[in-house]
Amino acid sequence: MYRINREKLQAIIQELDQAMYNHSQWYQNIIRSLVCRLPFDHRDLADDAHRQCTFGQWYYHCSDAEIQQNKTFQSIRTEHRQTHQFVQKLLQASEKNKPVLPIDYDNFANAVERLRLNMQTLKYELEETLYNRDPLTGVSNRISMLSDLRKQMELIERHVETTVIAILDLDHFKQVNDSYGHPMGDTVLSEIAAFILQHLRAYDSIYRYGGEEFLIMMPHSDLDTATAIIERIREGVGNVRTRSSGGEPISVTVSAGLTQLREHQSIEAAIQSADKALYDAKLLGRNRVVVASS
Ligand code: GH3
Ligand code: MG
Ligand code: MG
Repeated sequence: MYRINREKLQAIIQELDQAMYNHSQWYQNIIRSLVCRLPFDHRDLADDAHRQCTFGQWYYHCSDAEIQQNKTFQSIRTEHRQTHQFVQKLLQASEKNKPVLPIDYDNFANAVERLRLNMQTLKYELEETLYNRDPLTGVSNRISMLSDLRKQMELIERHVETTVIAILDLDHFKQVNDSYGHPMGDTVLSEIAAFILQHLRAYDSIYRYGGEEFLIMMPHSDLDTATAIIERIREGVGNVRTRSSGGEPISVTVSAGLTQLREHQSIEAAIQSADKALYDAKLLGRNRVVVASS
């Protein structure tokens, strides 16, 4: 799951789009100079041409750690380097007035096609991530929540997973809005979301479930492990301080209800069960974690 923020993701998509356009222009120029036997850019003969071209400059300077871990992003590295190596071969032949061998041309054309597909896939993946993000908090929205829960449920049905979900609801959040105004409430909400996101394990997911409610999915967890995670988050949220416009520290607490996903149970029933535990946490005085009775 991508944890980079929305603006950064948007910027990366724009840069990728521009880099893809530049690369397709470059490709057309190569074909044109080969077919029409025009002078070509000698930088394309260099061994590090793949690092020097505009796409390469974007690619090798894209420093975001999460993008770098993306499998499509990684396979672009090879496809792109190979494309430039094949071009180098074509241009070397052309420079010596030798015919371009069909096999060399085919290698080049195939590499370009694979590269184009990979670039397009990366763009779709990044756009999908953006589309599944809640604009205010930057965490995933409900669209991806249900589909992720369904996928997880399939693993549970096949006994390959134990998974716990938690619903978290900020306590007396209406008071924050009433005291400091809705925009300040928004700031508090997104800072809390960022805090939770930072303190989850890499394979846990957080979704904005409702206004000031979040659903957390914890795969590979039994109830004890999940309770410890959420208990730690509850404690941490209580220590987050957001500065009001007047410089006052604003703090909120959070209540949570947990339940383990069980086979033959619908997602709706599981959510209902976590919701009921959350309701109990509120009744018991808030700022606490309650596990659903099974
Ligand atoms: P409780 O402890 O029982 O949960 O109290 P509460 O005040 O949090 O609960 P209630 O459901 O009555 O109110 C939720 C509040 O959260 C009211 C609503 O205005 C606020 N809220 C929901 N979404 C947003 C949001 O996106 N931004 C801001 N600023 N406030 C929000
Ligand atoms: Mg609520
Ligand atoms: Mg609330």
